[in-house]
Parts: sequence; structure tokens; C-alpha cells
Amino acid sequence: MKICWYDDQRLGVVDNGRVHDVTAALAALPPARYPAAPGDLLVAHLDRLRAEAQRLLPGATSKPLDQARFLSPVANPNKIIGVPVNYDDHVAEANADKATFTDRFQGSIEQQGLFLKATSSLVGPAEGVHVRFPERLTHHELELAVVIGSLAANVGEDDALNHVAGYAIALDMTVRGPEDRSMRKSVDSYSVLGPWLVTADEIADPQALDILLTVNGELRQQSNTAQMIMRIRRQIAWASSFYTLYPGDIIMTGTCAGVGPVVPGDVVHCSIQGVGTMDVPIHAATAEPRGPVVETN
Ligand code: MN
Repeated sequence: MKICWYDDQRLGVVDNGRVHDVTAALAALPPARYPAAPGDLLVAHLDRLRAEAQRLLPGATSKPLDQARFLSPVANPNKIIGVPVNYDDHVAEANADKATFTDRFQGSIEQQGLFLKATSSLVGPAEGVHVRFPERLTHHELELAVVIGSLAANVGEDDALNHVAGYAIALDMTVRGPEDRSMRKSVDSYSVLGPWLVTADEIADPQALDILLTVNGELRQQSNTAQMIMRIRRQIAWASSFYTLYPGDIIMTGTCAGVGPVVPGDVVHCSIQGVGTMDVPIHAATAEPRGPVVETN
């Protein structure tokens, strides 16, 4: 099943080229309580939600995909985890251009470690990326996103994929420069997830998916997830040996060669086999806070 958030926080199921409004299925979720359990409530109860969405689908109103504004398919992740230097051709391009990529970070994935992106950086494709520092380079990094479905702590590689709820397309947007990755990759809107969550049962092998990115129609990135240096099951096992993974946690599994700059006015087109496609507009900086403003009194 392809599950999305769209328009004004509607819940949808994508089928046959249309998005079907199954917002009423949210009634199947348990009420949120304080203090909230870490993680995304919908992803934590995905089986229950899917059953209700399936039941509602025949009577649901629908619209064509190109008329829907897709938001992040995970609303409230506890963590966004990044995997650096995970495709050989990207490692080579970074090593060949120290002026752009700096030589602060060296060595294998195991030596460099995973990094975290602020969850406040998360947007959907319709919201687009707002370039925060136009005098610096902002690069696109196309990545397969893994969404964790159930609590995972110290899981083994053999069991790791059993903890996956599904997959999506990610852009790990990055300001190039010497600061820590956790800052350069956490600018508001610099984590794009979309256009929907494809549940794991629809992806027979996540390590055999063609990935492609163009900017204004120009081909920039093209590879296959078979080229990952560290496989997804090892990423999950390794991450879970450091921190507990919660439902809705997002792993951005690394990018291939061809990363490059974007500027306001560009349109980034992303495609991942078996997942879908999304177009992400690049906007000028905004002073607006990200997402709904929390009411306080
Ligand atoms: Mn990346």
C-alpha cells in the first residue's frame, strides 16, 4: 500500500494514479496521550491503520496525483539518520574535490559513523526546499529512505528488515562547508521525504532499485541501490546498537555520484523504482518557521 499525507493534512492511499482520501481511518489510532511514546503514532499502528484504510477505500473520494500537494509521509519521526559515503562513485567525487567537500571527514562509513539530521528539517515534496544561504553551495543528495516500523534495539542483521515499515524517496539536502554534518544538513526544509510511504511488502528487494535525479531536466544522479557499500540490514543493525529505533524513524541510506548545486527556481525531479517519482521546487529563503506553529499560552 502507498500511504501519504497531502493537502491540508489529509491522509491518502495512492492507487491507480489517484490519491484516495482515507482520513477517517485515523479514528482507528489510539488517542495521543502525554507524555507521548517516542515515534510516529501512525507508523506505530500501521497494520491497524492499513486495515481501516482498505475498508474505506471503495467509498473514498479521490483526485488525480498531479492535483495533490504531497507532505512528508512520516509526520512525527523521532530521528532522521544519515549514512555518509555509501556509494563508491560518490566517495570518489568527494575525494577528488576537497575545495567543495572538505577533507574534514575521512575514512570508511564505520570510521566516520552515522549522523543525525534535525527532525525540524523535514518537509514533503510540495513544500519544497528553501535555500537558506544563497552565498554558499546547497547540494542535492538523492537517497532511498527506509522508515522503521517497530522498536529496534540491538537487532541482528538477519532480523533487521523485519523492522522496516516501508520505503520512500529522500533528498538529503546539504550546505557544503566545514561545519558538522548535523548542522549543515539540518536547515529547515533540507530533509525532503516523499511522495508517499510504500509499505515493505511491495518492495521485494530494497537493494535492487534504480534511482535517478534530474535538475530542470538535466540528468545529475543515476545508480542502483545494489551499489550501496553498507547494506540496509547492516545500517539498521549498526544504528540500533547505538540508539533505540522507534516507529517512524527515517534512515537516509546514502547518495551516489552526481551531487550538485541547486538555486531558487530549479525543479528537482526524483525517481526510485518501485516507490515512485516526485518533483521538488527550490525556493528562496523564508523567515517562516517550519510547519504548523505550536500554540502556547
Ligand atoms: Mn546524504
